[in-house]
Amino acid sequence: MRWNSEYNRDQLQSFRIIERTCRRMPDSDRENLSRAIQPYLHFRTRLAEFQALTFVPHCRATCYDTALSACCGFESIFTFFADQVITMIESSPADMESVFRVLSRPNETRNCVYLGENGCLWKVPPVSCAMFLCDGIRKEILEPRPEAAQTWNQFREEEKEYTHPVRPVLFDSVESLFIRLGADSPHMYFHKSPGLLRLKEKWTLKT
Ligand code: SF4
Repeated sequence: MRWNSEYNRDQLQSFRIIERTCRRMPDSDRENLSRAIQPYLHFRTRLAEFQALTFVPHCRATCYDTALSACCGFESIFTFFADQVITMIESSPADMESVFRVLSRPNETRNCVYLGENGCLWKVPPVSCAMFLCDGIRKEILEPRPEAAQTWNQFREEEKEYTHPVRPVLFDSVESLFIRLGADSPHMYFHKSPGLLRLKEKWTLKT
């Protein structure tokens, strides 16, 4: 039996905090939050379309059909607090019940706890997963196709607009909103990680 209960507990705790905070969130904050995440959701849709066209046929042939896949093979995948907020906003109650169910029991697989029979249980998977690139894709797809590599690099730069706090970014502001409403979570890295706090400090010193 494989336990990652501390990870599961922390993830579940964050989701429950988000759920409770959303319930008592003022309408104006809810509307602002919904509006603020739209550009990011659009980015994720375009990214998913690019990956489906460019990466997925290769992934299917080399990893999925041969059962070699290492994607989603990590037990404790890194997530930001804003990742959790965004997926929760986009999920139905039934979607979230599936997430709560797997987090409430031991992970007996060798894979990510969120990997279900039909893929990821998250409606909007964590950004670290969305931007993951294996060596196979790098060598077989991006190196021989400069135009695909260029598009991928554009997506990488675009992702930073939401997560790299050398300027005001969505993932930081989502945490700030929930902190203002009294929430706390170990996944609030934009307010707790020394590395991210240093980046934010550089930006605030400049302004
Ligand atoms: S995409 Fe989903 S199932 Fe795969 S590693 Fe990320 S969170 Fe886990």
